[in-house]
Amino acid sequence: MFNKILIANRGEIACRIIKTAKKMGVLTVAVYSDADKESLHVHMADEAIYIGPSPSRESYLLGDKVIAAAIKTGAQAIHPGYGFLSENADFCRACAEQNITFIGPPVGAIEAMGSKSAAKNIMEKANVPLVPGYHGDDQSSAIIKQAADDMGYPVLLKATAGGGGKGMRQVWSEEEFAEGLAAAKREAMSSFGDDTMLVEKYLTQPRHVEIQVFCDNHQNAVYLFERDCSVQRRHQKVIEEAPAFGMSEELRAKMGESAIKSAQAIGYQGAGTVEFLLDVDGSFYFMEMNTRLQVEHPVTEMISGQDLVEWQLRVAAGEMLPKTQQQLVLNGHAFEARIYAEDPDNDFLPATGKLSLLQTPIESEHVRIDTGVRQGDEVSVFYDPMIAKLIVWDESREKALKRLSKALSEYRINGVTTNIDFLYNLATSKPFIEEDIDTSFIEKNNDLIF
Ligand code: ADP
Repeated sequence: MFNKILIANRGEIACRIIKTAKKMGVLTVAVYSDADKESLHVHMADEAIYIGPSPSRESYLLGDKVIAAAIKTGAQAIHPGYGFLSENADFCRACAEQNITFIGPPVGAIEAMGSKSAAKNIMEKANVPLVPGYHGDDQSSAIIKQAADDMGYPVLLKATAGGGGKGMRQVWSEEEFAEGLAAAKREAMSSFGDDTMLVEKYLTQPRHVEIQVFCDNHQNAVYLFERDCSVQRRHQKVIEEAPAFGMSEELRAKMGESAIKSAQAIGYQGAGTVEFLLDVDGSFYFMEMNTRLQVEHPVTEMISGQDLVEWQLRVAAGEMLPKTQQQLVLNGHAFEARIYAEDPDNDFLPATGKLSLLQTPIESEHVRIDTGVRQGDEVSVFYDPMIAKLIVWDESREKALKRLSKALSEYRINGVTTNIDFLYNLATSKPFIEEDIDTSFIEKNNDLIF
């Protein structure tokens, strides 16, 4: 096991990683920007290194500075968390050049999944089911449109370099196609500097069901069940749960095996998530693979009893996976609600300010809070305005959901506007309780939630 690791991240995920490292007796190095001088992750770590001004482009995104900090402190490995450098192949390569272990997959796997169309080509060859569509190299508008016409509308245009729901556009008819393509390309170019597009059949009532996979470098691979992340706003997850409701053992095993096949097709190692769309008829289709620890990983930890960060560290250090597929047992039901500083009444505009009051539900075996802030801290303009992840567990979905609404009602935050009432309304709404959920849930139930 490593003696010392550096965490190339901030906020809740940096704190989350430090907790596990501490438990394992591994020393930690934090990095921080101007805005984070007094941040919780800096206080929790054994050492902290300043890496630059507040904007992430001048600090957390600078691989060279992060690596220099690791060298200076003698850290043997770097955990990138999620976001920032976590899926940056150049950074992963630069770590290797300095003999620092990147706690994540091999660089080839990051590259293979970096483009949605390249990923689809690989999965097609590995016989993983794909949403019908076109993801070819010929980018002429006529070819893309022909593919859309042949499939029939609605279709979904996606930037192959896309992420975070950007560069995506639904097109409902042939007449709208030209305009939709132009708009999607514009957004893709400005967000990713690349306007290569693919087109897919747009499923109107799918669920987003993703499988947590883990591979070691001794040929072992397992899946740690699934998460349902269908409740989304602008293609961003709002509440996640595990397991997905209504999953038969048979479907779970089929999706799990497909996910392992996807991971093995790219020589995967470490923690990864294979995202699928699950259609009403039980068909499922590969969407993409995220080559990092996901924001929503805690719900998987709650139902599996495993510490995924510990697994990451063990695998990165060359150990075997801690459990075999047969040894993994799914127990109970978990939800995660993402508590954000944002204003639901004003188009979810990010909110900033000082957390003058931060009163949280009491943590227990049923309630877990992953956060990077304390009362008195500032939510700044520089980073993602997530305040905390509230995670609850109980034996059944019904009981866990009661825990969720109770915990949400116990939260008190003053000083910044939050989405807590919005989350509460969502969690207590009839269709959510009754599992009448697909990816259009928020749009469809607007009047119940707002
Ligand atoms: P991003 O990488 O930008 O997050 P994804 O490809 O992961 O984009 O898709 C994000 C979300 O968009 C999915 O969770 C799902 O809700 C929706 N989505 C993606 N593809 C389709 C599709 N073919 N039909 C319907 N919805 C889709």
